[in-house]
Amino acid sequence: MAKKIFLDEQEMPTQWYNIMADIKMNPPLRADGTPLEPGDLAPVFPMNLIEQEASTERWIDIPEEVMEKYRIWRPTPLVRATALEKALGTPARIYYKNEGVSPPGSHKPNTAVPQAYYNKAFGIKRICTETGAGQWGSALAFACSLFGLECKVYMVKISFQQKPYRRTMMETWGATCVASPSEETQSGRAVLEKDPDSPGSLGIAISEAIEMAVGPEDTRYSLGSVLNHVLLHQSVIGLEAKKQMEKVGEYPDVIIGCAGGGSNFAGIAFPFVHDVINGKEIKIYPVEPKACPTMTKAPFVYDHGDIAKFTPLIAMHSLGHAFVPPPIHAGGLRYHGMAPQVSQLISEGILEPRSYHQLESFEAGMMWAQTEGYISAPETNQALACVIDEAKKAKEEGKEKVILVNWSGHGLIDLGSYERYLSKQLTDYELPDEMLEKAEEVFKDFPKPALLKSR
Ligand SMILES: *Cc1c(COP(=O)(O)O)cnc(C)c1O
Repeated sequence: MAKKIFLDEQEMPTQWYNIMADIKMNPPLRADGTPLEPGDLAPVFPMNLIEQEASTERWIDIPEEVMEKYRIWRPTPLVRATALEKALGTPARIYYKNEGVSPPGSHKPNTAVPQAYYNKAFGIKRICTETGAGQWGSALAFACSLFGLECKVYMVKISFQQKPYRRTMMETWGATCVASPSEETQSGRAVLEKDPDSPGSLGIAISEAIEMAVGPEDTRYSLGSVLNHVLLHQSVIGLEAKKQMEKVGEYPDVIIGCAGGGSNFAGIAFPFVHDVINGKEIKIYPVEPKACPTMTKAPFVYDHGDIAKFTPLIAMHSLGHAFVPPPIHAGGLRYHGMAPQVSQLISEGILEPRSYHQLESFEAGMMWAQTEGYISAPETNQALACVIDEAKKAKEEGKEKVILVNWSGHGLIDLGSYERYLSKQLTDYELPDEMLEKAEEVFKDFPKPALLKSR
């Protein structure tokens, strides 16, 4: 039995899978409630990506220039977690897709590279973005360096202070990185006036990056998760995994991924959701922290993606666009919203979200490191906590389940949070219901999404 299942470079998927062809969605709206037109986004994104965002073609060709860059680290290995299985004494067979082998160490360059390519093809010279823990900023910095584009990153202040090496990575790839909220933008100054010690949030950093991107003709904005075209690019993960599982005659009963904005989860899951819509039965679990329970506690509503309401209204699970996550929480996944496609599938019961405390997720990460060897990103640990639960359940039920998980990234730049865990400085934190209610006030007057059925 092989430990690792590889694909040859020639076996790499040459098209992305677009789930828009297979599901029904509430359309994005302008702030006044009228339907968004593609042209509305033109100051923010290049037109070729706006077209992709709205496309309903099931298969979209991956440009050869992107394939060439993907080959730096793709295809990624699919690995059987035999040591973890053994330690748990489970009859389950656990497979993980190792997306930590990319240069920035996560799945994020799967979309950063095509986004940089499409911007370049459209004549753009400079890209602005935000980053939370720094993984997205470093992935975009890497991608921009491959295509000779300038890159400017607004990094959530608390991470900027806690994760200096991410900034070093961005600068090594030639990007500029500033702490958000900053004095450079109106959105940043507005936040600082009210709260000079604001730890920042993704919602604030997104506002700053968009504000800086919409002015100059040769500058655009880029988002690392949530949007349809991002999830489209990430489908390469699940398409490869499907081929790899076929090679060993396997098919998943359970699929698990952690979900911040939803992109790595959708990347592994959506090519299989296609099968579910066509009659297959798979349990599919997106996993989030209890400190930021977007999918498990927040309602499915229309809300903005950022605090300054620059983004359109999108139908999603949301904690409210003004949500600032508690700084007590160590492991990423702090965005207030969730990808509209993931949210839609949750509303239909096709995806079943789960949430975990940070201590149980770090315990899972410790067990993983001491069996499979790799030190996982704190975000990834959330998914591993769910994998371990499912493997234990399989043992209790005496069932030979096949579990597929996306190992979204390594944690070698996040050792600070491991250090806090190991020195017992991390505690569990569940978002109190009063805070949820308060956070949600911001969208109570917005239109309500329709309940649609895709199957
Ligand atoms: C960014 C990131 C996530 C969360 O983002 P998604 O868009 O939900 O995938 C999860 N894991 C790692 C390693 C990340 O870098």
